[in-house]
Amino acid sequence: MKKNLKRIAIVAMVAVSFAACKKTQESATTEPQETVKNADKVLQYIKDLGFPESSIVDNGTMFIVEEDITFPKNMEIPVNKAFGTEQYYTGSIVNSTNKLNIRVFVDPSMTSMGSEINNAIAQWNAVPNSTLRFNIVTTAPYDILIKNEALQSPNGVVCGAGEFPANGKAGAVIRINRDAIAGNSFAQRARTICHELGHNISFRHTNWSAIGESNATNVPGVTGTDSRSLMNGGQCNSGATVLSQKDKDATAVLY
Ligand SMILES: [Zn+2]
Repeated sequence: MKKNLKRIAIVAMVAVSFAACKKTQESATTEPQETVKNADKVLQYIKDLGFPESSIVDNGTMFIVEEDITFPKNMEIPVNKAFGTEQYYTGSIVNSTNKLNIRVFVDPSMTSMGSEINNAIAQWNAVPNSTLRFNIVTTAPYDILIKNEALQSPNGVVCGAGEFPANGKAGAVIRINRDAIAGNSFAQRARTICHELGHNISFRHTNWSAIGESNATNVPGVTGTDSRSLMNGGQCNSGATVLSQKDKDATAVLY
């Protein structure tokens, strides 16, 4: 907790210094400066999505939120943000063209978990009444990169992290803490990957309210909490390993 407060203070201080930079170096056009300005906007975007300040960790080139959602500081902010008040999503989804073929590239650091990745992808691709499809590609161009990274948060080891879509494109990166989940069962390793894929197509944590988030957007017609949801957060090695009926219903509504 103490550590967390420290982090909040750091995020706040960084935010203040960004604001100060804005005032004193308005004419500067160097790339780092642009990144700094954009980081400011990203931080505001995260807050607009309703994530509590206490869940935002500044990790250098990106912010990590709720342990497993990453926001690159140079990300494109979605133009059409729909913020409102069960399966929940960000209000910004993969567009109708891109959803038909979301190309997934597996970094060499993650090929050892190819079977788990295939299992995760097959779950999303099998949702009835959804035309969303993930496809593995072995060369560029691709939409999502899955790579190994030894992620840490103030609360300890992070199993994986996804990124939300922006402006019609799926979130660009999924980081999996390969060594951290290596000892889990096959089903739980696949779950972590399946869960992060869910973030990259806009799903938030179904149990967002219970874990302190606010302002998530309801998927129309799919309401209420769902203990069986694979998109419940904070459940590495303990959560659902298959998409629940409501997860599927929500996917069918969005895609
Ligand atoms: Zn998550």
